[in-house]
Amino acid sequence: MDVELYNTLTRKKERFVPIQSGRVSMYHCGPTVYDYAHIGNLRSFVFADLLRRTFEYNGYEVSQVINITDVGHLVSDEDEGEDKIERSAERMEKSAEEIARFYTNAFFDDLKYLHIRTEHTRFPKATEHIAEQIALIKTLEEKGFTYVTPDGVYFDTSKVRDYGKLARLDIEGLKEGARVAVTSGKKHPTDFALWKFSKGEKRQQEWESPWGVGFPGWHIECSAMSMKYLGEHFDIHTGGIDHIPVHHTNEIAQSEAATGKPLANYWLHNNFVVIEGQKMSKSLGNIITLNDVIERGYTPLSYRYFLLTAHYRTLINFTWEALRGAQTALDKLYDHILGYGDEKGVVDETYRTKFNTYINDDLDTPKALALIWELVKDKNISEQSKKATLLDFDKVLGLGFDSVRQEEVPEDILALVEEREKARKEKNWKKSDKLRDEIYRRGFEVLDTGKGSKVKKLH
Ligand code: AMP
Ligand code: ZN
Repeated sequence: MDVELYNTLTRKKERFVPIQSGRVSMYHCGPTVYDYAHIGNLRSFVFADLLRRTFEYNGYEVSQVINITDVGHLVSDEDEGEDKIERSAERMEKSAEEIARFYTNAFFDDLKYLHIRTEHTRFPKATEHIAEQIALIKTLEEKGFTYVTPDGVYFDTSKVRDYGKLARLDIEGLKEGARVAVTSGKKHPTDFALWKFSKGEKRQQEWESPWGVGFPGWHIECSAMSMKYLGEHFDIHTGGIDHIPVHHTNEIAQSEAATGKPLANYWLHNNFVVIEGQKMSKSLGNIITLNDVIERGYTPLSYRYFLLTAHYRTLINFTWEALRGAQTALDKLYDHILGYGDEKGVVDETYRTKFNTYINDDLDTPKALALIWELVKDKNISEQSKKATLLDFDKVLGLGFDSVRQEEVPEDILALVEEREKARKEKNWKKSDKLRDEIYRRGFEVLDTGKGSKVKKLH
């Protein structure tokens, strides 16, 4: 079955044709590890994971790279301002390396909690690929694409005929409206730094280079590392939509200038998560992390479920209300699966084909979730077959259906449940409510079902 994906480069949904039959190579722009990732950032990695799982479901062998930006990403996303890692290190009175290590580990925890698969994925760090970045800048220099200013080595975007093709930038308009930064000495507003000089600034992270001591610009790491691990021309490159006009535009310009080949065939972008209608940002103080989600009593997978309810290319509005809804839905699914028992069944082919069609259609997860509920309610499918089919779908959805098990409930809780059952039979509602509260306080929840009450550990 064909996989169709929306390519930002062509603004069309296209049939995916791999460079090498049966294989897919993907590069995903990774986190800048100066702070915890917020749940918006994490959407990019759930999206990357869904892509991987979809390809694997379709029988492809996947090579995946997610970079770790541990130097060079400046506060402005442009070439001005402080380095995010250096600033964070200074504020917390730690070394840049300690900061990067701490938040890289926190990022790996987030991936694990969200069931983002990492087997065989490479996570190269910018600071461990300085030589590769310098080599790439040298190639660009030899080919005449660079110039040096007192600020650093810059890429001359006017030398690239199709500069801005990804974002369809209006270069002429930009030139007219631009206020070219004086400090950097840029020749054109779209030019960008490949290497920045330290210039007597007190920096922890700096390296020798043929042009002077300094550090790499933000974009060059992705070109250097993607080409190192996936080759000069690979299949798919992803990131959030904010990367289209600057970061990805510049990655394309410098990579293609260096090699004369297209960097990636498909450029895919996930839309933003907004909070109560507003962009998540430090200055608004509305950043939410996965830790916040857990602290409020929700499971990380409820956030994954929440994300799947929207197509990755649409804006999604996060509210605690909506997360509660996702948690309830997911818990209901777990209950269904528990109820189906352990007897082996076979995957229902009609449902499987539908599911495959939906996810292959540019990862239509809202339709896939709707199909799950249709299946759960379908009276013509046996419970064993429902379970087998759900487990099959979960290879892509990653919602933890395979680890749904009856949880161990301690004796004292069971005794309370039994007592409550008795109170209910005697229609002593006051007592039964009190017992339910007591059970809740001890970390369990009673669900009243048609077949009597069930107890579940609270998340
Ligand atoms: P960063 O750590 O800032 O380099 O960003 C990591 C990834 O998160 C990038 O692919 C960004 O495009 C993406 N991103 C940033 N903010 C959001 C958001 N609010 N919603 C979804 N993705 C985002
Ligand atoms: Zn990148």
